[in-house]
Amino acid sequence: MPLPTAKDKPLFTPGPLTTSLSVKQAMLHDAGSWHWEFNAKVKALRARILGIAGLHQAGGWEAVLLQGSGTFGVESVFATCVPPTGKVAVLSNGAYGERMVLMLQAQRIPHAVLRTIEDTPNDPAALDALLAADPAITHVAAVHCETTTGILNDIAALGAVTRKHGRTYIVDAMSSFGAYPIDFDACSIDFLISSANKCLEGVPGFSFVIGRRAAFFATEGWARSLSLDLLSQLKGFEKTGQFRYTPPTHSILAFEQALDEFDGEGGIEGRAARYRHNHETLLAGMAMLGMRPYLRPEVQSHIITSFPFPTDPKFTFDVFYRLVSDKGFILYPGKISQADTFRIGNIGRLFEADMKQVVYAIGETLAEMGVRGEV
Ligand SMILES: *Cc1c(COP(=O)(O)O)cnc(C)c1O
Repeated sequence: MPLPTAKDKPLFTPGPLTTSLSVKQAMLHDAGSWHWEFNAKVKALRARILGIAGLHQAGGWEAVLLQGSGTFGVESVFATCVPPTGKVAVLSNGAYGERMVLMLQAQRIPHAVLRTIEDTPNDPAALDALLAADPAITHVAAVHCETTTGILNDIAALGAVTRKHGRTYIVDAMSSFGAYPIDFDACSIDFLISSANKCLEGVPGFSFVIGRRAAFFATEGWARSLSLDLLSQLKGFEKTGQFRYTPPTHSILAFEQALDEFDGEGGIEGRAARYRHNHETLLAGMAMLGMRPYLRPEVQSHIITSFPFPTDPKFTFDVFYRLVSDKGFILYPGKISQADTFRIGNIGRLFEADMKQVVYAIGETLAEMGVRGEV
């Protein structure tokens, strides 16, 4: 075992991310999950999450925390909020849309899938036609930033179509919540899912689902799972102030610190500005190496950036990844997508200097490999 280092290699990934030292230090405590002090923190954090969404409990909204990573949160919405007779339309242009399809298959929930290729946003006109043709569809599920490529889907346009047809709208905003303003009203969002360890820069341990209290209470008797039952989870918070089962106590403590730092940075606006600048710094540096992004700028988010592999046959991703890691930078090992790309995350505790350094390391690596950029 190597000794713990003062500074870990920065993660240029879509989560878990590099977190601040103070967020990590906030975990150096053992909190009693039943104790009033811890429960008061959970209560306050639920309200603060709503605040980030521009919502309030007084306005009828709730944020339900759930143990487990983001995937558990998305699956809990299908497990809880789709009635026994329900059918879900999934909009997919990447791995996270496809994961929704797998969840619906696993839970034996009828569904339809509308696919676009990975560099093309979900198509509101196709959704309109599907909903008009299939009255059995009760729910529409979309991914805001499809982290597979970093593409942004137009959740407002999809929401308008969903509302027009009177269906329930589920948005996976895992990798965008906190880094893009999301107007629940304008987008007609019924349920939104995100997690602790993406743009809010906490550590892994829980996800959260935002929805109307009445909408959660309307799901009585629907849950297909015990541990993923959001209504029981909400009732637990309201009755005892506690998670139903062992909570990720350290992750909650870290999250409280992470939200203080989020507020200190100026909330969504401040964080978005830093991520956008990271993204622009990355693009400018990579362009000098002859590397152009996979997506068109109109659909590219400032969350994560995909780059096609250089066409030079001397390039192999495994060697490239290892050499960049040896220089102290962790890239994202290619998630299989329709194009051969690698991805560089702009999110987490990363700043302009980090982006310049990773570009420098990539340039040195390509030179060592004898790979020519295509300018
Ligand atoms: C990361 C991510 C998920 C899955 O979250 P995990 O924490 O890895 O389970 C789902 N959807 C999107 C868009 C994501 O970026």
